[in-house]
Amino acid sequence: MRRADKRTRAQSGLFVLAFLVLAACAHETAKPDAAAGAREGLPYRIVASLTTEVGPRLAGTPAEAAARDWAVKKLEGLGFKNVHVEPFTIAGWTRGHGHASIVAPARQDLAVAALGGSIATPRGGLTAPVAFVATYDEMLKAGEGAFAGKIVFVNDRMTRARDGSGYSHAVRKRSKGASEAARRGALALVIRSVGTDSDRFAHAGNMSYAKEVKRKIPAAAISNPDADQIERLHAEGHTVTLKLDLHPRHIVDAPSGNVIADIPGTEKPDEIVLLAAHLDSWDLGTGAIDDGAGVGIVVAAALRAAGPEMKPKRTIRVVLYGAEEVGVHGGDAYAKRHAAIVARHVLAMEADFGTGRAWRYSTNVPEADLPFYDAIGRELEPLGLERGDNKSNGGPDIGALRKLGVPVVGIGQDGTTYFDLHHTANDTLDKIDAEALEQVTEAFARVARSVANR
Ligand SMILES: [Zn+2]
Repeated sequence: MRRADKRTRAQSGLFVLAFLVLAACAHETAKPDAAAGAREGLPYRIVASLTTEVGPRLAGTPAEAAARDWAVKKLEGLGFKNVHVEPFTIAGWTRGHGHASIVAPARQDLAVAALGGSIATPRGGLTAPVAFVATYDEMLKAGEGAFAGKIVFVNDRMTRARDGSGYSHAVRKRSKGASEAARRGALALVIRSVGTDSDRFAHAGNMSYAKEVKRKIPAAAISNPDADQIERLHAEGHTVTLKLDLHPRHIVDAPSGNVIADIPGTEKPDEIVLLAAHLDSWDLGTGAIDDGAGVGIVVAAALRAAGPEMKPKRTIRVVLYGAEEVGVHGGDAYAKRHAAIVARHVLAMEADFGTGRAWRYSTNVPEADLPFYDAIGRELEPLGLERGDNKSNGGPDIGALRKLGVPVVGIGQDGTTYFDLHHTANDTLDKIDAEALEQVTEAFARVARSVANR
């Protein structure tokens, strides 16, 4: 007994020591282990599959069609029903060859991206002196003919914010700047990238020409460090001359489409809880954070909300929208096509804000439903979400439904670093935070489950 006791004590001493060593190791490796575990999870595996097997998927191109085929196969394989494509056509655009350089006072190449929708420069390129404009608002104050014979350069910087709120202000120069510059006589528009990084790559993004402005001019974004270079040259009193050589092409009636997939409701199959993300991406990266992440989140959240039996009371529908980046065409097409049954959509939610952790839960629901939705908010508190307001816009693709009266929930994700990568060649799978995707997926799933089984 005694001997045994001793041995036990000695053994337990060893056990304690072993435990401490193991605990220390576990502490060291806790993060990588959890990250590795999260990469086994469905949200990450979906993003990995889409970005690896399809890659970039610009709207209206064969790559976007390949993404639809990928989605149909994937969703059927995961057990979704009623999986189908709802096609529509768009005015398509492809980037083609593009090059930009400072030609005076000293020659140097710039990291450039034509803006989506931009026309090409004339054959042989376009060379002209720069009219330096500090901000977009300053450009709007300039008079008619102020930029005649010049390339307007707009230098606005985007502000970093957790909720991404710097974007809407900064993006105006990109979406509307070309026509405003053309109105004032400019030959072309070049902007400092709409992004918060200081990396040597340009941020792409859509633009459009104002109907009332007859003259169309080419438009492009350059990287932030390149914009700094122009800013310094301007500050030192130099006249900067730029050469732009951009060759995008427009395609009439390019095919796009939305991919729909349902988990049919057992009690009220006609009532729909819609989870949205967009399938298209810009062409420079592989669209991992925008919006491969969203695709992974909503597909996995729908399955998680439906439970292992796949028997929610109401139908849980995933819509992977086409052609979001080039004008939210998929969102509009869905709302138009399903106009007669809009009222059957009891809730819509969208994931299109990258790979940051969820931190805020906002709603846009009828006053009478607030107690129900506030209770869901309390279920999200342990995940780290705070209660936002009841003015959520939901997201771009479900915007048309919201305007028609469909209630929406917004799961706010941390966007502090989102605009470092947004629409760049650097938007690739390695940037995905698999653990964060799990947390965001769980938040979406809890909301969808509660509403589907209400
Ligand atoms: Zn997006």
